[in-house]
Amino acid sequence: MRTALTLALAISMSAAAASAWAEDAKAPTPVGTTQDCKNPDALGVERVVQIDTTGAPGFGFQNFKAYDFLKDHEVVLTFDDGPWPGNTERVLKALADQCTKAMFFPIGKHAGWHPEILKKDIAAGMTVGSHTWSHKDLTKMTFDEAKTEVEMGIAAVSIASGNRPVAPFFRFPALRMPPEILKYLASRNIAIFSTDWDTFDFKLRRPEQVLRSVQKRLTKHGKGIILMHDFQHATSEAVPEILKWLKQNKFKIVQVVGKTPVEPLPEYKKMVIKEIGGGLASARPMSSVVKTISGPSAN
Ligand SMILES: [Zn+2]
Repeated sequence: MRTALTLALAISMSAAAASAWAEDAKAPTPVGTTQDCKNPDALGVERVVQIDTTGAPGFGFQNFKAYDFLKDHEVVLTFDDGPWPGNTERVLKALADQCTKAMFFPIGKHAGWHPEILKKDIAAGMTVGSHTWSHKDLTKMTFDEAKTEVEMGIAAVSIASGNRPVAPFFRFPALRMPPEILKYLASRNIAIFSTDWDTFDFKLRRPEQVLRSVQKRLTKHGKGIILMHDFQHATSEAVPEILKWLKQNKFKIVQVVGKTPVEPLPEYKKMVIKEIGGGLASARPMSSVVKTISGPSAN
């Protein structure tokens, strides 16, 4: 149900306006936006919604019912647990080939290990939130431990993306949500993204199974925020077919962006740098440091 004007969300705007925030945040110019799309049959982006995350509104019917912002046949694609070599890059390529956008919820440690891949998410104009530092179940720890997981996750994504602020969106590991952390996120004005439909792709080994899982849910329900994992190999191989199927079946992609990004807290940035190593913040892109000069992928 669509609720009243008091809602914290949903201003539709053009893809051009969507990049305004990225410019504010001094991001690299997004590439592969719909304006310079070379594929005339691309899935593209139907509309961009900007969310005012004041007070931490929640999205995804699995846990939150208040804000039903998708129209029939509209889909928000979300990918968790990256960035991961090969898999995340395959997902990004599939999205770029279809000139479309998704939300990513990277794990802080993975972002720390693979900052060059996280930077590709950002450069491609994706919405990049956070998903804790090490993907532990926050309901099984003290408040301070859980808060540290949340804040180190945000700090790691910020550092790995070149000390930028982070999209004000958070997803709980395994969607397990301690009430005191929900309150804490409200104090930080970070929206919570659950999901409408979980594909359970982490249990699937073959790309056809992941495709079928998406098809089944969207055919039945007609729209939704879809949870997948760019960390998963089978998913990364399924995404081109999923996007093709969405286009053929007249589904439209909605990109979600934040109104105000979240700033990482300095004490947690220090903790991340201590864990990952001081080189992270100043590391050059891996491709400018390490180059294959002989062998099958030499260039
Ligand atoms: Zn996860």
